[in-house]
Amino acid sequence: MKIKSIETLRVAIPVDADGPRGAATGAWDRVESLVVRVETAGGLVGWGEAFGHKVNPGTEAILHTMVGPWFLGKDAALAEALADQAQRAFHSFGRGGPVMYALSGIDIALWDIMAKRAGKPLFRLLSATDGELRCYASLLPYGGDRDAIARNSRKALDAGHGMIKLHETALPAFMAAREALPAEIPVALDVNCPWTVNEARAIARAIKGRGFEWLEEPVWPPENFTGLADVRREGVAIAGGENIGSLDEFRRAFDAKALDVAQPSVAKIGGVTGMRRAAALAAEYKLRVVPHCFYWGPGYLATAHIAASLPNRPMVETLFAAFAAKPHALWEPEKGSLVLPETPGLGFEPDLAVLERFMVSRHAVRAN
Ligand SMILES: [Mg+2]
Repeated sequence: MKIKSIETLRVAIPVDADGPRGAATGAWDRVESLVVRVETAGGLVGWGEAFGHKVNPGTEAILHTMVGPWFLGKDAALAEALADQAQRAFHSFGRGGPVMYALSGIDIALWDIMAKRAGKPLFRLLSATDGELRCYASLLPYGGDRDAIARNSRKALDAGHGMIKLHETALPAFMAAREALPAEIPVALDVNCPWTVNEARAIARAIKGRGFEWLEEPVWPPENFTGLADVRREGVAIAGGENIGSLDEFRRAFDAKALDVAQPSVAKIGGVTGMRRAAALAAEYKLRVVPHCFYWGPGYLATAHIAASLPNRPMVETLFAAFAAKPHALWEPEKGSLVLPETPGLGFEPDLAVLERFMVSRHAVRAN
């Protein structure tokens, strides 16, 4: 099970979010994945994904210059032990951020390999009984355009998504989705850390009792856990955790009573190993876990396998936009549900022609 090669494939697929375009609205016209491919000397291949988007050139460089070479020749069956050793080896280069993203990508690939070797889909290796999941639609930002928000909220509802999440920051935008949807469909608000504590408290008071599932990352900076706890005391559920880089930081957030919903992110917190540990910690604090998942590649599937293994079976966050091409058979944002296959591992079988067509860059490191 010696690791023979580690390859990165940085892929950017054009998307149509059916809304206003351009930087002013924050709209996205393509979505990247930094796919990690690990191969063992015996020929087993594992797929992973490292965060992400604009920092991909940095994560990619770390993978092929520093983190990737460290893993060459090591035993792919030892993901958890290697996670601990690697974090110690690289701790002085960042306890969160691209070093952890790189480690996350490799860890996911190692779990894929371990599940393949065990002959089981990852969700069964994680003791889940089935791989059927609901999804929720994570809308791209529409810069407050109420028509686009309402239209896409209804489209996601028609597709069968169990919840709609917005990336908007103003009450009229929030209400555009709320008013477009039946009351029983939850609407979550992801605002990405814009406000002071007092501003966020005012927003919390304004949305309280109006049918919103949670308010995600309302405060700048995201690690202001006492500030988040202050906002939470207004009586609105607070979600966060995608920007938390370590287990100890999660513990500080939980101790500060900052969160109702913990959102570790598989391609940032240390892969499957990191997610399992974060979820176990959240369980100690009796907190709900709903993973962050702004991914379409192996990170998406890893999140789904982990979600299947969690007691609350959270819906899988699914980036809601029309892709120019389908990167793999299990990427169906237009569906609102996901059935993980019984094939061993993650079940990530990329359409290599699609990856090739939208490839930004590709690197490999190999054992001598
Ligand atoms: Mg978020």
